Amino acid sequence: MRLNPTSFLPHLKGLRFDQIEIAEHRITLTVTAVRATAACPLCQQRSKTVHSSYTRTVADLPWSGMTVSLRVQTRRFACPVESCERKIFCERLTQFVAVYGRRTDNVRTALQRIVRALGGKAGARLAAHQRIGVSRMTLLRLIHADPTVATPPPRVIGIDDWSRRRGRRYGSIVVDLFLGLLSFHAQPRPLRRLP
Ligand SMILES: [Zn+2]
Repeated sequence: MRLNPTSFLPHLKGLRFDQIEIAEHRITLTVTAVRATAACPLCQQRSKTVHSSYTRTVADLPWSGMTVSLRVQTRRFACPVESCERKIFCERLTQFVAVYGRRTDNVRTALQRIVRALGGKAGARLAAHQRIGVSRMTLLRLIHADPTVATPPPRVIGIDDWSRRRGRRYGSIVVDLFLGLLSFHAQPRPLRRLP
């Protein structure tokens, strides 16, 4: 019986499965993008002229405690519109990964849930335990970069002063100590003027 991984990995539909390698704690799936055409991101015209190919490595959700990597054979296409400034473009695989993403959308969603529940530091520890390698700072960037994710209200806050012009213009900064320094609200107006 020939295994069809898209039956249990629906987010990878449209890719051809070439190989699966299983090491001690890692599974690597080699897949190839096979759609006949791709749309130029600038002029939106579809092209079927393949210019070259390259390999992307994308992390997927772990299986039974094993890290899963996708080795994705991807192509560059030549734009069919002569006047288009984008002569060559990389095909988009937006059904499962952002344009320059190194993690599938499923992984991003899982990490966003982790950081929202636990914050950056504990979230990074849990992610490592779940075999999803991510740093605390990357977790924080993930939650702040997603406009669809509402930033939760601060649970632990710190307040400090900061200086726009030393000795003359000051503001207040409120730091979300749970999520980290990336979540802050600054007061750009001078709060007081020193003599
Ligand atoms: Zn184009």
